[in-house]
This record gives sequence, structure tokens and C-alpha cells, in this order.
Amino acid sequence: MRISVDPERCYGSGDCVYRVPAVFTVADGFGAVRPGGEAAADDPDLRDALREAVEGCPSQAISVTEERPGRP
Ligand code: SF4
Repeated sequence: MRISVDPERCYGSGDCVYRVPAVFTVADGFGAVRPGGEAAADDPDLRDALREAVEGCPSQAISVTEERPGRP
């Protein structure tokens, strides 16, 4: 799974960190994917929380792309 935070949109509300601390952190005042966060996001137990983080980001700065093995 590929996860990114658009630094041009993020204004550092921290909502994503509150919702999924295993995936997101705050770096220099802005939301960011923490080291190992993409791997952590593969946990099925975090799927709902991750979706809520994406949908709940007030600036729509979070992008999630499912990786499909065998496809370019
Ligand atoms: S919820 Fe959105 S605006 Fe807030 S810190 Fe996370 S990415 Fe940035």
C-alpha cells in the first residue's frame, strides 16, 4: 500500500495522527507517513481507521493507493 501526504495541502491539524498513530506522525508541524507506516497500514485491523483518516482529513491531503502485485 502506498500512502502519501501532500505537503501543499496539509496544514498540520494532526487528525490523521489521532486516528491512525501507527501510520501517521507529525514532522515539522505537518502530517507525514511515519517510517514503517505503509507496512503497518497493511494490517486489516487498521483498514477502517485508515479510511476514516483519508476521508476525515480536513484538507484532503492524504492519498492511498493499493498495490496490486503483478501489475505495473
Ligand atoms: S489530517 Fe490532513 S491536514 Fe491534518 S495533519 Fe493529517 S494530512 Fe495534514
